[in-house]
Amino acid sequence: MELPITGTCQCGEVSYAISADPMITIACHCQDCQKLSASAFSLTIVIAADSFELKSGELKVFERPTDAGGTAACYFCPTCGNRLYHVNPENPCIYRLKPGGLDDTSQIQPQAHVWTSRAQSWVKLPDDLPVFETQPDLNEFFASQQVD
Ligand SMILES: [Zn+2]
Ligand SMILES: [Zn+2]
Repeated sequence: MELPITGTCQCGEVSYAISADPMITIACHCQDCQKLSASAFSLTIVIAADSFELKSGELKVFERPTDAGGTAACYFCPTCGNRLYHVNPENPCIYRLKPGGLDDTSQIQPQAHVWTSRAQSWVKLPDDLPVFETQPDLNEFFASQQVD
C-alpha cells in the first residue's frame, strides 16, 4: 500500500494516518463483526500500534469479551459511532483497524477469512485463500504465510 495510509470516521471528526504497511488483511465472519459492520462480515487490517497516528478528533472506548476468549478494547468516534480499531489490552502493540474508513479502500483485499463457521449461508468463500472456521493462531498463520 502507498504510505502513509490515511482515513477518517464517517462524520470526519476523527482522522488518522498509518506509516507502515499492514501485516495482514482479514475478513471476519463472527457474530460481533456482523453486529459492528451491520452486515455479513467485517474487514480488519492488522497494523503495528506505533505506525498509527491520530491526526484529529478523540476516541471513546468500550471493552467486550471476544469469541476467542480474550478481550477487545474497541475504539470508536463518539459523534458518529464509527468503529476505528480494536486492541487486545494484553497485546497493545498490535491494532486491528477497521479499514472501511480509509480514504483509498481500493487496495484492501482480504488475505484470509476467519470464523467462517458463523458466515452467512449466502456468502461465497474464495477457494484461493486460507479459510478458518474459528480464530486461527496468527503467529502460526504468519509463519505459514511468510508474511514479513
Ligand atoms: Zn465520527
Ligand atoms: Zn470478528
